[in-house]
Amino acid sequence: MRVVLQNLTKVFPSRQKKGEVVVAVDHFNFEIPDGKLIGLLGPSGCGKSTALNLICGLETPTEGKIFFGDDDVTELPPENRGVGLVFQNYALYPHLTVRQNILFPLQNLRGSEKLSKQEMEERALQAAKLVQIEMLMERKPSELSGGQQQRVAIARALVKMPRVLLLDEPLSNLDARLRLQTREEIRRIQRETEITTVFVTHDQEEAMSISDLIVVMKAGVVNQIGKPQEVYDNPVNLFVARFLGTPSINLFDGSVKAGKLFIGGEEVLSVPGAEDGEVTVGIRPEGFILKKDGAFTCTLERVEVMGRDTSVVCTHTSSLNDNIRAIIPAEDAADASGKQARFDLKPAKVLLFNPKTEERILFSFGEKQEAKA
Ligand code: ADP
Ligand code: MG
Repeated sequence: MRVVLQNLTKVFPSRQKKGEVVVAVDHFNFEIPDGKLIGLLGPSGCGKSTALNLICGLETPTEGKIFFGDDDVTELPPENRGVGLVFQNYALYPHLTVRQNILFPLQNLRGSEKLSKQEMEERALQAAKLVQIEMLMERKPSELSGGQQQRVAIARALVKMPRVLLLDEPLSNLDARLRLQTREEIRRIQRETEITTVFVTHDQEEAMSISDLIVVMKAGVVNQIGKPQEVYDNPVNLFVARFLGTPSINLFDGSVKAGKLFIGGEEVLSVPGAEDGEVTVGIRPEGFILKKDGAFTCTLERVEVMGRDTSVVCTHTSSLNDNIRAIIPAEDAADASGKQARFDLKPAKVLLFNPKTEERILFSFGEKQEAKA
């Protein structure tokens, strides 16, 4: 089911007496393609839950429309939209068994949707199998781990065969290992069922790893939409560049003169096509090549061994971060000793931004020149 958001806006009155209104969702205009998993990503408070609640009908928009396929669902109550919802806290009925919890949404179906008892049982078992909890059907929620409880919640959301599945930080209450495992499960279930899914998270790694498309939000405004790798490689602005990637992008004050990029007086890279002036330079941790006569000289602080890769930690007077992190293959790290580390830079991993507007500045590098907004 394709979902279309048109000028979708939600303004909340201030929670303080004389405070300003909050534009939690500011003119969303995008389409969620049929059968895809979209990661709605942004820092806490940026409006992700509000956007999700608008799609499911728990909130009424101040302005704009929502379509499921060709149906305008803007005025429909949540129960008539055909959505499945999963929240961070699993919110299961504690006095009901797993089976009864999953059956619950089916028992309220009326009219032509009404199912026989046997049909309901079959559907519940099918949903339980999808999330692999069919052996736990007679347990109470208190007899389950957090991960199992969240699976029950997902089964309950799936049992009505929703047109759209909406997940609001569904992994936040799980420990690190379960989080990884459960996110892969969600991805598998989504692929198997091909239900159009919106997955809300503040965790960029989580969103990048399971989404077909990510939507990066800041303060109610969509900053960028794209495939995870495309957005990572070609962020439209400094906010998006900083929000994606661990370790995060290294930032420096720099300047461009006659197609050359300078950081702290050193000419570090050729940047044909970039205009002269001050720039904020972003270098991805994987953009450094350790080299004895490298163009960019940093002060070496320490080397952290991480197995496959090595993290070379440096400082620089023009750095905007406390530390610079260069991730280099372990076999190349032999050169990282002494007081200095010198690097050549991979042009595709160097991003320039206007220091005032924080918008991306493009330059060309060889044939591969490509940077889309
Ligand atoms: P997120 O899910 O990204 O953390 P939310 O959608 O919960 O963000 O909130 C977005 C903004 O809207 C926040 O500033 C929040 O304080 C505000 N907000 C959310 N719900 C309400 C409400 N019912 N009344 C007033 N302000 C709200
Ligand atoms: Mg939220």
